[in-house]
Amino acid sequence: MKVVVTREIPANGIEALKKQFGDAVSVHYGPPMSHEQLLEFVKGADAILSLLTDKISEDVLEAAGSQLKVVSNYAVGFDNIDLAACTAKGIVVTNTPGVLTEAVAEHAIALMLSSARRIVEGDKFMRGGNYKYWEPMFLLGPKIYGKTLGIIGLGRIGHYVAKICANGFDMKILYYDVSRDDKFENEFKALYCALDDLLEKSDFISVHVPLLPSTHHLIGEREFKKMKPTAVLVNTSRGPVVDEYALVRALKEKWIEGAGIDVFEFEPKIAEGLAQLDNIVVTPHIASATHEARIEMARLASQGLMSVLLDKKLPENTVNKDVKMKSA
Ligand code: NAD
Repeated sequence: MKVVVTREIPANGIEALKKQFGDAVSVHYGPPMSHEQLLEFVKGADAILSLLTDKISEDVLEAAGSQLKVVSNYAVGFDNIDLAACTAKGIVVTNTPGVLTEAVAEHAIALMLSSARRIVEGDKFMRGGNYKYWEPMFLLGPKIYGKTLGIIGLGRIGHYVAKICANGFDMKILYYDVSRDDKFENEFKALYCALDDLLEKSDFISVHVPLLPSTHHLIGEREFKKMKPTAVLVNTSRGPVVDEYALVRALKEKWIEGAGIDVFEFEPKIAEGLAQLDNIVVTPHIASATHEARIEMARLASQGLMSVLLDKKLPENTVNKDVKMKSA
């Protein structure tokens, strides 16, 4: 048995694996491996615990070998994994849903508040020793209370963002998703909208869809032009959902007022011009980075892997539920 963990994760996850598999567990410490290093590292593995920084493409599955049974992704998104190839080869793919919902939602709200209330600009101003006197017209931004929030992708995280904003800021909630949620609509007096409608009516827009062919560049130049010039866009989903060059133009040419962005189209690079703009707050993909969420992610990722290897059972957090599990 060989279990490989592609990066350091919280100790509880590694300890749980070591308790079961002892020295058969190899952990790569340090920055992400190159693709070539990854191909070498996974050789002979029965299980891979991967991170979103690892591209688990078909050649990685092949490099591992035919005994590979499970890829357990330390993330809720799994766009870094060739799911179809895993399913075709009988490899179970698991993720870490639910345990980071509150963390990501809190970060989306933090970006919304930071962008609207110009927290980062104020912080830089203070640290630069520039505060000489109080200014009635300085660093103004939009009020949040009572405004309209548009949620794109009403899954676990979108739901929780809406709940905080409805309960905490008395915001009106609009949402767009591929399916409707009557219970949510009743509970929060939320309105289901076509995407264009949501873009035109929302003061704050928060994106929570997975990265799929259907969501790639869901927000591009056309969509930015539909938004209010006072709108603030928040993206904590995946970078390529937003056309980042269109975002730069939208902010530069003031098609919208601001943005708070945690994920980038060409991560870890950011689009040219973005870093020079004052009306955007950027964070390095840290929306799930609470102590609690990361520990729970480690628990869920190691448990999913162990259920496949030891119990020969599809865990609840299996992504490709139609997979035909390998027997040995
Ligand atoms: P989820 O599966 O519960 O929700 C996703 C929602 O998007 C679902 O309601 C789904 O119906 C909807 N959706 C799918 N395709 C759509 C489309 N084409 N148009 C409109 N809606 C569509 O997932 P979640 O747990 O809420 O997580 C959402 C995403 O957030 C993840 O897929 C992941 O990429 C991202 N994420 C980012 C971080 C981070 O650190 N920034 C952390 C966790 C998750």
